Amino acid sequence: MNYDNCPHCGVSLIGDPIPEDRRHHYSGTHWRREIGIEYPRKYDGVWEWECPDCKGTWPSEVAKLRGEREK
Ligand SMILES: [Zn+2]
Repeated sequence: MNYDNCPHCGVSLIGDPIPEDRRHHYSGTHWRREIGIEYPRKYDGVWEWECPDCKGTWPSEVAKLRGEREK
């Protein structure tokens, strides 16, 4: 699950609506504002999300699952 608000500063991460003719390319109806950060050595995909406003980061679902497994 993605946050709808930044867990650090609380800003909304939901952006403008996606134009209807492009929606079928994306999941959801609005652009997302958080920035996906990838660590190619760790994982081929988004490992962390960054808030575009406060630059705070939080782990992606994958990172969370891996973290649980490594405990
Ligand atoms: Zn933030």
